[in-house]
Amino acid sequence: MDFKHLPHPAPVPGETRQQAIADPGFGKIFTDHMVVIDYDADQGGWHSPTLQAREPIALDPAAAVLHYAQEIFEGMKAYRHPDGSLGLFRPEQNARRFNASARRMAMPELPEELFLESIRRLVSVDGDWTPSIEGGALYLRPFMFASEAFLGVRPARQYKYVLIASPVGGYFKGGAKPVKIWVSRNYTRAAPGGTGAAKTGGNYAASLVPQMEGIENGCDQVVFLDAVEKKWIEELGGMNLFFVFDDGTVITPPLTGTILPGITRDSLIQLLREEGLNVREEPYSIDQWRADAMKGNLVETMACGTAAVVTPVGSVVGPDGEFSIGSGGTGQITHKLREKLVGIQTGAVADASDWVMKL
Ligand SMILES: *Cc1c(COP(=O)(O)O)cnc(C)c1O
Repeated sequence: MDFKHLPHPAPVPGETRQQAIADPGFGKIFTDHMVVIDYDADQGGWHSPTLQAREPIALDPAAAVLHYAQEIFEGMKAYRHPDGSLGLFRPEQNARRFNASARRMAMPELPEELFLESIRRLVSVDGDWTPSIEGGALYLRPFMFASEAFLGVRPARQYKYVLIASPVGGYFKGGAKPVKIWVSRNYTRAAPGGTGAAKTGGNYAASLVPQMEGIENGCDQVVFLDAVEKKWIEELGGMNLFFVFDDGTVITPPLTGTILPGITRDSLIQLLREEGLNVREEPYSIDQWRADAMKGNLVETMACGTAAVVTPVGSVVGPDGEFSIGSGGTGQITHKLREKLVGIQTGAVADASDWVMKL
């Protein structure tokens, strides 16, 4: 499909851009351009891919997304490599997961090659927005929503795919400091048969009240338990979890449909196995977590996702009070894995599995 390129009338001057990306924070500033691709079921599907100046999107007030939340997104990062080029980490996995989310939300799939091409196009014009600070990256946010003006309830016939980019530093202030986790008892994130495995905004909307509850209780993040027995650990609002034991076993909750299949999760499973650890995808309960942490055979817990990469869990506030993990600091495996993964992503460590796509 031919991309149309509408030149930006007034891109941000280089000096202003350099200032903006010196300390970008997370998701607060945006690049000059965006990609828009429209879909119309009655006009042959996807059409008119356009690279253009970033601007507000005009929407009919009856657009289905505003009423029934037919929406999905992805999150990925382009990293600056030592040779000056930019590299994406396993972007074909994001393309594939985007379509898995689309199927669950009754939305049209976007050809994987078109998804990847949209990223190449945007980065080709906005690559200079990538911060060169440590932990910096160009965060890419592809998303799709139902734009058809129609208030009946059925899958929409018109959609927009949009790609924007945001220069980012570390996700959490203070870098990879251990986080304190709140165990949500009053709320769940996803039920069997629901949308937990789809990257859709509604899952995040539902996580905001429990997240606020966690913050009111002095925690940084919330861990959700399964919706049926309220017993099994699932994941954080936007990160998957790994539990590391002193005998070299590592447990991560299995992908049973209520957990988002993280690409960082999948990569860590492989890296941990390469380190000779015995990784098991199996259910792990909140009571066992507390008991193992108190006994001392559970030595580390890490949270992982594209935004914060690998983050140590330092302590947990659960129904039976607070407990800490290991010394409450960053464990050895967590540290090693983070260095290795970030190293591969940034081109500092050999990419044995061919995970990096150079742009
Ligand atoms: C995106 C996301 C993750 C992490 O996925 P990555 O592919 O590793 O970035 C984990 N949990 C939820 C709920 C998510 O939305």
